[in-house]
Amino acid sequence: MIEVVHTIKEVRETVKGWRKEGLSVGFVPTMGFLHEGHKSLIDKAVEQNDRVVVSVFVNPMQFGPTEDLDKYPRDLAADTRLCEAAGANLIFNPEPSEMYAEGFCSFVDMNGPTSELCGKSRPTHFRGVCTVVNKLFNIVQPDRSYFGQKDAQQLSVIRRMVKDLNIPVEVVPCPTVREADGLAKSSRNTYLNPQERQAALILSRAIKLGQRCVEMGERDAHNVVKAMKELIATEPMARIDYVEAVDLDSVQKVDKVEGDVLFAMAVYIGKTRLIDNFIVNIK
Ligand code: AMP
Repeated sequence: MIEVVHTIKEVRETVKGWRKEGLSVGFVPTMGFLHEGHKSLIDKAVEQNDRVVVSVFVNPMQFGPTEDLDKYPRDLAADTRLCEAAGANLIFNPEPSEMYAEGFCSFVDMNGPTSELCGKSRPTHFRGVCTVVNKLFNIVQPDRSYFGQKDAQQLSVIRRMVKDLNIPVEVVPCPTVREADGLAKSSRNTYLNPQERQAALILSRAIKLGQRCVEMGERDAHNVVKAMKELIATEPMARIDYVEAVDLDSVQKVDKVEGDVLFAMAVYIGKTRLIDNFIVNIK
């Protein structure tokens, strides 16, 4: 039976018991409302570790004042069933007050990789992500932690944080899981009405177009981005937040497609902001 706990003390006790037995620990941080994308991370963690912890925490600190914190979907019972079926051992589901006790005033912040893409449109987002992931790492103290390529900038930011702060955890990237028609799975897809759900396909179509441009030999990043933007503009329900080409590690804009390049986008479909991306490696 999977165990669901709500306090830091309980997580520490359980993990301490495993450590005494010499067991390795994998960790999958999530905001819950779990789907196949999350499950792919849990599957990998189960494969590579003796025990697996999943956190389910909608972290208020990473939401801006006008964002969807209150309406973010939640279903702990369904999440518990998914985690149990996947073979995870422990769910950590704290209240915000457990994570941010009265007087809380310490933060993990970053320059560089947080300045572009989502960092521009959501200026306090990555401070919230870095702070909570750092806290979760300190609470769980895992050997490995699993992050989806779907949030590619987040993955680059976490890698940088782990390196810069000498956090003893291996960061394991996991590929984006998509619906059969190409839409990247996301808890936020539940906000889409049927017409918007159809219109949302413009993101994965833009990705395919961008990939094809690079495959055909286009090495000017601006031309790839332009082609993607033009395609997205043909969808009346879509409004571009950004489409950019950046270096995968530094998350700074590039002009040329060379080395590891991340093509990332955020697009509003109606009121719902969706993100997607692809990465190319050009020698
Ligand atoms: P979230 O619950 O949205 O904060 O996501 C928790 C973790 O699951 C993050 O590392 C995400 O990148 C990852 N994730 C979310 N959606 C997908 C997906 N469609 N494919 C792979 N990983 C995903």
